[in-house]
This record gives sequence, C-alpha cells and structure tokens, in this order.
Amino acid sequence: MIKNKFTGEEVVFSCEVFPPKRNDDIYGIFKTLDEIKVIQPDFISVTYGAGGGNRKNTVAIAAYIQNICEVPALAHMTAVGMDDEKLALLLSDLKLKGVNKVLALRGDKPKTMTEEEFNQREYKYASDFIPKIREVGEFEIAAACYPEKHPESQSVEDDIIHLKEKTDKGVGFLITQMFFDNSKFFSFLEMAEKHGITTPVHAGIMPITSANQLGTSVTLSGSSVPAELSNMIAKYGASPEDMKKAGVEYAVNQIEGLLKEGIHGIHLYSMNKSDVTIDIYNAIV
Ligand code: FAD
Repeated sequence: MIKNKFTGEEVVFSCEVFPPKRNDDIYGIFKTLDEIKVIQPDFISVTYGAGGGNRKNTVAIAAYIQNICEVPALAHMTAVGMDDEKLALLLSDLKLKGVNKVLALRGDKPKTMTEEEFNQREYKYASDFIPKIREVGEFEIAAACYPEKHPESQSVEDDIIHLKEKTDKGVGFLITQMFFDNSKFFSFLEMAEKHGITTPVHAGIMPITSANQLGTSVTLSGSSVPAELSNMIAKYGASPEDMKKAGVEYAVNQIEGLLKEGIHGIHLYSMNKSDVTIDIYNAIV
C-alpha cells in the first residue's frame, strides 16, 4: 500500500504522466517510462482524460508501468461520464492487468458534454464515486485536494469541509493540485488538520520548463504564480535551454523548502519529460 510509505522518514517520490493525444504515439510514452523507471519512483500515476485529453490509453499505460517497468501504477479515473456498468468494466480491466491503485476524481465537464448532461451525472462528487470503487474491493484509493481551493469553491475552508467528507469515505492518501508557493501549502495543511483531516498529503510540484506551460496547465489549475516565477519566465522564456534549467532549479528549491519543513511526499507533474523528472529526483535525494 502506498499510504504506508508516508509513515516513514524516507522521501516518497512519484510522478504523473498523461496518455499522448494521438493513439499512435503510445510507444513514445513507453520510451519515456523506460527512462523514468531507472530512478524507481514509489509510484507513477496516469491521467484519464485530463484537460479534455485522451482517456483511451490510461489502462494500457498503467499496465505498462505496473508490469513492464515494475513500478506501482496509480490509474486516474473520473466520475464524469461514468455509470455503474462502465465503472465495473474499467475496474475489472485494471484488476486483470494487475493495477490495484486508483485516483478517484469527479472530473470536469468535457467540451462535448452539455451543462444538462454534466448536471445529470450519476456520481455527483468524488465522495459519491469513492464508495462505489470501494464496493468492488481490492483497490487502494487516492483522491485530489487543492491548497489554493478548487476553482468552484467559495473559499479554501469551504473546499476543506467537502474534502473531509471525501477522506471520511476511505482515502489512503491525497495528491495536491500543483502549487508554486510553499506557504499556500503549509496554510492548507494547517487548516486541513484543524478540520480533522489526518490522511497523508502528497505535494504536487510542476516544473515550469517552458513559457507556454503558464498559458495552459497553470491557468487551468487556478494556482497562483509568485513574482519570482513570473520574473523567471520573463527572463528565460525566450531561450528553451535556459528556461528548462531555471524551471528545474525553481522546482528543486521548492522541494528542498518542503523537505526542510518535514514534508516528504513529492509528486512531480512530469509533463512526460523524463530528463526533467530524473534531474529533479537526483537533485533532491
Ligand atoms: P470533488 O472532490 O468532487 O470536488 C469538486 C468540487 O465540488 C470542489 O469545489 C468541492 O469543494 C465541491 N464539493 C465536493 N463535495 C461537495 C458537496 N457535497 N456539496 C457541494 N460541493 C461539494 N481531471 C481529469 O479529467 N483527469 C485526470 O486524470 C485528473 N487528474 C487530476 C489529478 C490531480 C492530483 C488533481 C488535483 C486534479 C486532477 N484532475 C483530473 C482534475 C479534477 O478532475 C478537477 O479538478 C475536478 O473539477 C474536481 O475533481 P475532484 O475529484 O477534486 O472533485
């Protein structure tokens, strides 16, 4: 169980990959995973239709991580667009392939779905979805949390109140949305603790290694961008090589700041970049 790793003092290091947009690029991600496996992360997670992306290959990639790379795989899954039958099929497919860890998410409204369809979803929140996965048994279940609140929440506290409902449904550990300012994460942890949340929290770090990441992933996440990071992008953004170096350095500094405060769960949003993932891992362990 991944959750047991959080009780030790060792750094728990994991990363996220996403399925390529085109099905015929799947060998590219396999190659990336072959490179990442050398550092033997504690687990590798695979997204499921994130940002309107590809859902099709999540199981195949999770199976590759689990069986070929021999690294524990965590398959993301979303409640949106799911019903009991589809869920049973997805879980049995994962089980058959030896994948027994899932990140249970509500998900966002896909562009192709109407507001009405979205509102009629079978599982309203992740906290309704989790018990359905638990019913099947044998899956370790993780969930998401948001140090700077989920974009739909009125406040961090309001979001944490719902997060407590979610962790009460039986969540092994939480993975945070990306954040770039450690103080936001520490405030969140303090408030979560006040609300009785004892579930281990794995800190999500996204290395910004190209200027256009800010315009896409970061904007969508709603995470705030400290002046130090925007100045870095202004200074190095035009030079891909310098930007990559500066982005790795920023992420390493951020992680070192967390480790210094006794946080030892680090989840890297790898953006499918094995070199960046390995450089950061080697700098922090
Ligand atoms: P929930 O926990 O259900 O919360 C959603 C909102 O509803 C929050 O504002 C919450 O406060 C509120 N809420 C919860 N319960 C209640 C209630 N009872 N009453 C009123 N309000 C309530 N998306 C993908 O499509 N694919 C992925 O692979 C993916 N991976 C992700 C990985 C991580 C680590 C994170 C942080 C996010 C990921 N996402 C992914 C994005 C995620 O699907 C969206 O952020 C989504 O909008 C919320 O999902 P959730 O499970 O956090 O939702």
